[in-house]
Amino acid sequence: MTTATQPTPIGHYIQGQRAAGTSSRSQDVTNPATGAVTGRVALANRADVDAAVAAAQAAFPAWADTPPIRRARVLFRFLELVNQHKDALAHAITAEHGKVFTDAQGEVARGIDIIEFACGIPQLLKGDFTDQVSTGIDNWTLRQPLGVVAGITPFNFPVMVPMWMFPVAIAAGNTFVLKPSPTDPTASLLMADLFKQAGLPDGVFNVVQGDKEAVDALIEHPDVKAVSFVGSTPIANYIYETGARHGKRVQALGGAKNHMVVMPDADIDQAVDALIGAGYGSAGERCMAISVAVLVGDAADKLVPKLIERTRALKVLNGTNLAAEMGPIVTRAAHERISGYIDLGVKEGAQLLVDGRGFDGKQAGEGCEGGFWLGGTLFDHVTPAMRIYKEEIFGPVLAVVRAKDFAEAVQLVNDHEFGNGVACFTRDGNVAREFGRRIQAGMVGINVPIPVPMAWHGFGGWKRSLFGDMHAYGEEGVRFYTKQKSIMQRWPESTPKGAEFVMPTAK
Ligand code: NAD
Repeated sequence: MTTATQPTPIGHYIQGQRAAGTSSRSQDVTNPATGAVTGRVALANRADVDAAVAAAQAAFPAWADTPPIRRARVLFRFLELVNQHKDALAHAITAEHGKVFTDAQGEVARGIDIIEFACGIPQLLKGDFTDQVSTGIDNWTLRQPLGVVAGITPFNFPVMVPMWMFPVAIAAGNTFVLKPSPTDPTASLLMADLFKQAGLPDGVFNVVQGDKEAVDALIEHPDVKAVSFVGSTPIANYIYETGARHGKRVQALGGAKNHMVVMPDADIDQAVDALIGAGYGSAGERCMAISVAVLVGDAADKLVPKLIERTRALKVLNGTNLAAEMGPIVTRAAHERISGYIDLGVKEGAQLLVDGRGFDGKQAGEGCEGGFWLGGTLFDHVTPAMRIYKEEIFGPVLAVVRAKDFAEAVQLVNDHEFGNGVACFTRDGNVAREFGRRIQAGMVGINVPIPVPMAWHGFGGWKRSLFGDMHAYGEEGVRFYTKQKSIMQRWPESTPKGAEFVMPTAK
């Protein structure tokens, strides 16, 4: 007789240890490739969130007072441990998110970049100093940590997106409460274990699993000073407004509809490779995925037949198979949403060139018949009036829009409500330059389809892809997690006698 494997209970991480919490609510965690329920994640209540924030609040004074070089040494040890365990993290991602293992390894590598950046915190926190701003007076600025800060992250990068936040925040002297997506929660606990092993004091990094109840408790909590959020636009908007109303500094990164403009002079094969990789990689579940191909002039005639052929030939397989190019969709609900958008596109009059609905999971590998499978989908003759153009689908659906010239293509991108990533493929330097200057988006690729900025440059969109003033990680990340203080100093020997009643000026 065979017995079904019991789902693994997945809890929180508070005060340096794993904790079950006190809430009676929990939810299934599923392997999207097979549909099997593998875990049961706790959904924190307010008392659980209070416990995590209290641990972080208690740890803050000593951690903030720890010299930056010593904080950096803990980060260096964490970096070493994450490097040693990077495949374990990637396996955890593939098992709960479904993305192909090599892509999961890439995600971890991009997270590691940020830890490396955060190791340079002594240099990043170094202030400015002006000798003699006035006779006998010096003035300097320094940046100090905020206190307890919270990070609320999406399902699609369960390692990289938290690492956009907590290494920088913690290196800067803050203490942290992470609320990961309940869809793929396991990696958050692995990261917490490694950080403890690296010598991080208990309470500096905490994890609460949960949903809206935990999020609301965090963004309303009086001891939480700042909130970083990454997720869909409606929730980003909500977090920004609610967090701000509760007096917090908020950085809320939202959804996207990333366009790739292909000019007729582009290298057509490179453009096709780029569209296939950026459109269908990670099943289109990346905030920087290309979901709209804007084909200018006769570029469409050259590209579309190749796109059809390549979309049909995609290797859609279990992510554990190293030959896989695309894995399953993350959940049954996401599968239904994406399939619904494909139905809608047909109703709206777009031309469905390749239909991913009805993809048989059996083709993806043994045991995959119960998984959440879709093939790559390609639409042509999509117009700006259609909902499949306006809304974020977040799946392996690529829409071709045709534009008569460069000006029309730029206008199209600039009129869209989102402004996360964008790309232009061309061989013309002036077109590339004009594109870079005129396009209304936060991250621009010239012959680069997914221009995710490196760790020291900072990540963020424009328009309704970002609510707040500062981008994630890089120097903007350091600024977000610190506040500036200006100190002006003089000593009795250089202080003139007598009260001054006029506005002090340099003397
Ligand atoms: P989501 O908005 O559903 O969830 C994000 C986080 O918010 C999760 O932790 C979730 O538990 C929480 N949440 C969900 N509903 C909530 C509610 N009603 N109130 C409070 N909190 C709530 O996003 P997702 O489906 O996990 O991730 C996909 C989305 O994230 C896409 O829109 C994608 O574009 C976006 N994303 C953006 C970026 C970026 O940098 N701009 C990066 C990655 C993902």
